[in-house]
Amino acid sequence: MINFENVTKVYKNQKTALSHIHMNLPDTGMVFIVGDSGSGKTTLLNMLGLLDIPTSGRVLFNDLDITNLSKNNQDVFRNQHIGIIFQGLNLIDELNIQENIVLPTQLQQKIVSTEEIIEQLRKVNLNESITDYPKFLSGGERQRVAIVRALLKESSVIIADEPTGSLDEKNANNIMALLKDISQNRLVVIVSHQLQLAEKYGDRIIYLEKGKIIEDKVIHELPMKTVTKNNDIIHKYHLPFNVSFKFAYKWFTYKFSRMIFALMTFFLTLSSFILALTIYNFNEITAMQNGFQNENVTYVMIQKVPSPDLVMNDLMFTLTDKNELKSLFDESNIIGTLYNDGIAQTILDNGSDGVIQGYTNVSLTQVNGFGLSLVGRLPVDHSLTTEVVITNYIAYQMGWVNESNYHDDTVLQSIIDSRTLDINFIDGNDLHKYTFTIVGIIDTNYTLPDQTIENSTYQFMFENDLKFGLHTTLFFGSDMVNFIADLDQNIGNYGADKVAYQLFVTVKDDGYKKALDYQTTMGESNVWVNSKLDYSLHMIKEFKNVVLQVSLVLGIVFLLTSLISFVGFIHNMVVNKETSIRIMRSLGTRFKDMNFIFLIQDAFLAIFTTGLSTITALIAGHFINQSIATNIYVIIPLVNPTVWIPMVILIITFCFAYLITFTELKRTYSKTKVIE
Ligand code: ADP
Ligand code: MG
Repeated sequence: MINFENVTKVYKNQKTALSHIHMNLPDTGMVFIVGDSGSGKTTLLNMLGLLDIPTSGRVLFNDLDITNLSKNNQDVFRNQHIGIIFQGLNLIDELNIQENIVLPTQLQQKIVSTEEIIEQLRKVNLNESITDYPKFLSGGERQRVAIVRALLKESSVIIADEPTGSLDEKNANNIMALLKDISQNRLVVIVSHQLQLAEKYGDRIIYLEKGKIIEDKVIHELPMKTVTKNNDIIHKYHLPFNVSFKFAYKWFTYKFSRMIFALMTFFLTLSSFILALTIYNFNEITAMQNGFQNENVTYVMIQKVPSPDLVMNDLMFTLTDKNELKSLFDESNIIGTLYNDGIAQTILDNGSDGVIQGYTNVSLTQVNGFGLSLVGRLPVDHSLTTEVVITNYIAYQMGWVNESNYHDDTVLQSIIDSRTLDINFIDGNDLHKYTFTIVGIIDTNYTLPDQTIENSTYQFMFENDLKFGLHTTLFFGSDMVNFIADLDQNIGNYGADKVAYQLFVTVKDDGYKKALDYQTTMGESNVWVNSKLDYSLHMIKEFKNVVLQVSLVLGIVFLLTSLISFVGFIHNMVVNKETSIRIMRSLGTRFKDMNFIFLIQDAFLAIFTTGLSTITALIAGHFINQSIATNIYVIIPLVNPTVWIPMVILIITFCFAYLITFTELKRTYSKTKVIE
């Protein structure tokens, strides 16, 4: 079956280990190769198992020149035809006994039952649990596991280098007997210096001296079958996915805590970048929508920008604009108020002026749509009654309620029952006094400022609130609104055809975005979109620049220090596994399969590092948001988590890791000699 044709092996140091070997091995039987140390036994066995290739000459397997196979096919050949029992390093430390034993069969996509493994282990006097790890085994025990592994693999040849070297006589004989048994229908080639074993069990003994065959002694004549040329000598199997996955997982989690420690700075690098990118990605609309939700803001105000000559009514939309605006925003999502200079200067009967900014007519749908709540009822719409609905803020300004009870429905109801509202429209020096019946009070959810905070920022925000709030509005029936508007044209400072108009738009759904779109269409210098969170937004944008710069600088500083350790880590991922890789390769694992295992490991690494960094970034982001919130008393999140950023980082990390493992693995696989 195997023919050596003039095989010579000269090592790189010019040492000739084999010279002009001619040898013809049978299909079955037990062949011993004996000789002194350094005579070339191991080298010969390496040629046989395709663990190394000759310098010159050919090795034929069923007439196929196996020395000429590509590297990949050499691995495939080993997988398919050769069972290997080696001296020294032979088991993979990260796999338990069973996993070590089944690896070659898995590479052949065959299944060996647990019972069979246990039975074979018992035959070689091993009663260890199959889930134990090799590090608990003695040299002799490891050797016997390797023997069982070779026996269970369906290979046509078993090669063994000093298989009984580390065993006592009893175990040695036991193993030899087993191999003898196997050699009934397979070829077993054994290197040994124990001549008495060779003479006891061998069918043929080949004596080597200084790289040459000095004697070839046949003890039992063995059949030399003439084999028909086999087209299936090289059959490519894949390592099953679950096996590759398990490998990757085991290797990845091996010495896990050490890994976390080694990657500490890398985690910080990724966290900083994720944070920086997230902040860079800060979206005003999203942030404001979040802020509106956190602060219970239900509407924003749309205003016309004053013209340069500052004619008062140019501040506002005209009644003509009103219908156009109503068609843009769904009617239930807007409340337009008429701004009245006269009413703005209204002197209420407690003497507080300027509390009322505008008036309007609303429907219940609008009240609900804006998230306001109503105590009592709305004014009768189509009759000129002097009915009015006020807000709880106006009631507070009138001194009818205080800070502690101005959200209390029963208190508000008692105002409806007992109070009227006198409004004095000012016209030059004349006062037009009207007395209104209060039929309802709208709670606009407006929060009074915390008096204990003495802070200019807060004061500014409070004043902002007053300007952009519905809480300073009076609500009349539509006929009354028209009546006052007419009155307004006579008594106000406006021209006869104009009544100033301002708009509140709900922020629910895409209301805020719609308002900004409208502003874009009209030109940012013509229309303003205002909300009570404007000042906070302005502050956050300032924070943004600072935090962005800090996290970027941190990221770059960490990157410089962590890149080296990260590259080193991935590099070591392969280098530390070199022994295991070599063992696996000697068992026939192809580059493709090995590369796939590392690919999965790289994926684990990328997912793990990005995952942990994302969590760190999220926590940091949470604290940044919190600290901004305590500074400006409003929660508008600066750091809004997005999915794409960790995804991009993950992909980059993965590609980077894969590039390194691929290169490193390629280097390992490029060595001609599989086992040193
Ligand atoms: P044996 O197994 O019979 O002890 P080897 O086949 O291991 O002998 O070695 C044969 C000769 O080749 C020895 O002189 C050894 O020093 C040399 N040799 C083996 N492997 C290498 C190698 N990788 N590089 C250089 N010389 C080697
Ligand atoms: Mg040797």
